[in-house]
Amino acid sequence: MSLKDHLLARIALEGPMRLDDYMQSCLLHPDWGYYTTRAPFGPEGDFITAPEISQMFGELVGLSLAQSWLDQGAPSPFTLAELGPGRGTLVADALRACARVPGFLTAAQVTLVEASPALRDVQRETLQGHEVTWLESIADLPDTPLYLIANEFFDALPIRQFIRQGAGWAERRVGTAEGALVFGLAPVAPQPALAHRLEDTKDGDLVELCAPASEIMQEIGRRIAVHGGAALIVDYGDWRALGDTLQALENHAPVDPLANPGRADLTAHVDFEALALAYPCSYSRVVTQGVFLERLGVTARAQKLAEPLTGDTRNTHIAAHRRLTHPAEMGNLFKGMGLYQKGQTPPPGTEV
Ligand code: SAH
Repeated sequence: MSLKDHLLARIALEGPMRLDDYMQSCLLHPDWGYYTTRAPFGPEGDFITAPEISQMFGELVGLSLAQSWLDQGAPSPFTLAELGPGRGTLVADALRACARVPGFLTAAQVTLVEASPALRDVQRETLQGHEVTWLESIADLPDTPLYLIANEFFDALPIRQFIRQGAGWAERRVGTAEGALVFGLAPVAPQPALAHRLEDTKDGDLVELCAPASEIMQEIGRRIAVHGGAALIVDYGDWRALGDTLQALENHAPVDPLANPGRADLTAHVDFEALALAYPCSYSRVVTQGVFLERLGVTARAQKLAEPLTGDTRNTHIAAHRRLTHPAEMGNLFKGMGLYQKGQTPPPGTEV
């Protein structure tokens, strides 16, 4: 049996599924889910993320959080958390760089929120020698000052899609036709959570909602507001999204999101406005990844790392720097945003 057969049988029994339900099954089904059964990162996988491109990404993100920690009086102990750490590369690079910050590693309680048991095993391997706690849910984070990073995490959370009709919305659902999965529409209904989108949309426009993202941001925002700390969110997307951003990638190529459930990575653009407004914490402007990394000194770091390199290794390093920062590569598509306690300054690299 495949996930597709399982979903076809389920829809035959229960009727069309919501898109968030479909995405959740594709990504995290215990037997057939994409993250639960595969190691999707890197040249052999379906996509490559910033920390896998160069060690500079994790180093600079880690140092930005460490500077926020210093600016806020170096509270001890504190939680250094990552959401969806993938292979654990980012946090390993951050910890190595932050070892230079006096007191930081002693006070840090490294905590990773990871849903996939297979990826937890990979992270355990990458982080040998560090004391690390794994949590299944963000709600289990301790009540301490929180310094948190989430890179390409929110884009993996399940979304719902709605098409505007008058003052109501028709939700997109996954049904079946002739043995295949196909998109259909539920009857038009009011959607109180989309009241603010009646201002900037017209009939036929498609908007997306990601309820889990708002719930997670409430957990993060509350801890930062009460105990102090900062969060850096890096992902692709922008301040308020419009249109269908659901994307499926298999072997580095786009595919139909309904064609091979569980075999392709499914993502959607992140709506930074929804993240920022989920909890009344202070938030920075959305900044492009290129500008964010330049402000943190990526070029100086790249030059330093290039000094001993020659030949192919040097060329790969130069290409990695370009890939992370250049507007035509990841530099403009990816964005960063900082969250912080009211009255404090935003994490370095971001600005008010
Ligand atoms: N941050 C990493 C990996 C990004 S991929 C990097 O930059 O390389 C998304 C990660 O989020 C994976 O580790 C995946 O297993 C995890 N993930 C997806 N949905 C999750 C959820 N609901 N709760 C916790 N982790 C989740």
